[in-house]
Amino acid sequence: MALDLKDYIASIPDYPEPGIIFRDISPLMASGEAYQQATNAIAKFARDKQVEMIVGPEARGFIVGCPVAYELGIGFAPARKKGKLPRETVSATYALEYGTAELQLQKDAIKPGQRVLVTDDLLATGGTISATIKMVEELGGIVVGTAFIIELTDLKGREKIKDYDMLALLEYS
Ligand code: IMP
Repeated sequence: MALDLKDYIASIPDYPEPGIIFRDISPLMASGEAYQQATNAIAKFARDKQVEMIVGPEARGFIVGCPVAYELGIGFAPARKKGKLPRETVSATYALEYGTAELQLQKDAIKPGQRVLVTDDLLATGGTISATIKMVEELGGIVVGTAFIIELTDLKGREKIKDYDMLALLEYS
C-alpha cells in the first residue's frame, strides 16, 4: 500500500528565522520505502514526458533528481553554486530575501534539443528553479517539466513557472 509521504516530512518552526516553518525531507530520504515511492512517482512523470536528461540545483535538487535519472537510465547534470564547476559554464542570478545568488551549469551539460526535467526538493518563490530553467534553455535544452517533492503554495512559485508542466508530490500552505 502507498505510504502517506507527509508522514515523512519534518516541519521545523522558526527555522532558519522566526515565523518560518522549514520543511525537511530528511525523514523521507531516511526511509528506503518512502524515498523509493517519491522517486517512482517522479520517474513516471519523467517517463511519460520522454525526458532525456535531468538537471537539479545544489544540493537537494541532486537528492531528488539523481535516483530518477538512475531509474530511467538517463543522465543528470548538477546546477551548482558559483565557482564550483571546473570548466566553462553558463550562469543565472536570482533574488534572495537579502541580495542575490548565482547558479552555474557546465556548458556541455545539455545537448541542444534534449528533453530536460528540472528537479528540486521544494518550490517556494520559484527563483531557484527559474534560474535553473534559464540556463538549460540557454544551452538549447527543452524543459519538458519540473518536479518537486514539496510545493509551498502560498509563495506562488507555480505562477513563475506556469509555462512548464509541474509535478509536486506534496503541498503545504
Ligand atoms: P525558491 O527559490 O524561493 O523557490 O526556494 C526554493 C529553494 O530554497 C530550494 O532549493 C529549497 O531547497 C530551498 N528551500 C526554501 N524553503 C525551504 C524549506 O522550507 N525546506 C527546504 N528547503 C527550502
